[in-house]
Amino acid sequence: MKPIDHKGYEEAIRIMTNLAQTDTSGGRVAAQVVLSAYNGDEWQLDVTELSLLDGKYYLAALNVIRGRKELMIEPHNLVPDGREVFHRIWDRWFRYHISNRWKQTCFTCSGRGKIVEYDDHDQEKRTPCHRCDGTGLIAQAS
Ligand SMILES: [Zn+2]
Repeated sequence: MKPIDHKGYEEAIRIMTNLAQTDTSGGRVAAQVVLSAYNGDEWQLDVTELSLLDGKYYLAALNVIRGRKELMIEPHNLVPDGREVFHRIWDRWFRYHISNRWKQTCFTCSGRGKIVEYDDHDQEKRTPCHRCDGTGLIAQAS
């Protein structure tokens, strides 16, 4: 196998960090890929989720993994404002951080942490979900 070059790794990180900043299932996988390459103690990639990616996104995911191992360069060093970008992705997907990923999504609020209701005048009213204390996550079986 031909080693990945610096440019190929950089391009893969660009594609994956952009995707990771979208609220899509592909974004969720991309976040796992880049965050586990960034801090593998706190983030893990569910390999089966790679099947949610296709074409250039799947290739980019593989190239992030390859670049991290073959070039030994931390991914945030290859994007402008890398630390900020990675922390944005970190916060956005914190539900999948190792401290949270074993928890169930709250079905009362569908993981939003808020209950949205409409009054008689069609005004939106948001209240924190009491079942999950506004976290969107349930930490024990009930
Ligand atoms: Zn809830």
